[in-house]
Amino acid sequence: MGSQPLVVAIDGPSGSGKSSTARGLAQRLGLGYLDTGSMYRAVAVAYLESGLAADEVEAIGYLASQVRIEVGTDPARPTTAVDGVDVTATIREPRISQHVSVVATNLEVRRVLTDQMRRLISDHDEGIVVEGRDITTVVWPQAQVRVLLVADPAARIRRREAELAGAASTDEVTDQVVRRDHDDATVSQFETPADGVTLIDSTHLSLDEVIEAICALVPDPQE
Ligand code: C5P
Repeated sequence: MGSQPLVVAIDGPSGSGKSSTARGLAQRLGLGYLDTGSMYRAVAVAYLESGLAADEVEAIGYLASQVRIEVGTDPARPTTAVDGVDVTATIREPRISQHVSVVATNLEVRRVLTDQMRRLISDHDEGIVVEGRDITTVVWPQAQVRVLLVADPAARIRRREAELAGAASTDEVTDQVVRRDHDDATVSQFETPADGVTLIDSTHLSLDEVIEAICALVPDPQE
């Protein structure tokens, strides 16, 4: 026992500080980093390029099974590629945030990506921090550390605005945060912690304080 690679699963809504926390934690603990949102965003890039309509549910599911998504798991330099084309910057464009829920609410897309995530996690012998919406509940509920990171909507909108640095209006950011969470919540349960999942509210915490709080949950390797 005790020899299983460490998996830290962090779920939460947009703007909760998940990505900065997960990357910082992975760097601090010398673990890999998997941003599962980037995989949904990568499928959204392929979907927008395909010209398919949002209601072509089966075709979108099939598309997800055909595209080759590659994610780099180095927390210092996360990368995403679709069919060999680097989309690391493209997936952050507001048009992708606007349309990603179309692919993320498609159950066949979720099945395909969940399989790929599980393979990536099992292949990662050095341990990994995985962030998303359904990691603690669906993708890897057996993770040794399971956290739901939340924050007040106003704080989340403020953080996203700061990240986008004027690239989107407050209305657009509010749409990206509030409407997207609402759509996402129809397929994943990330608003209340499942059994055994630790709830951390980052509204009044610094990034370091959140990372500290999660580090304190990591089991001692001797035990
Ligand atoms: O975390 P991020 O905002 O990059 O995620 C982009 C989108 O991917 C989310 O809005 C959600 O629709 C979807 N997602 C998901 N399940 C995950 C991770 C992300 O549905 N585990």
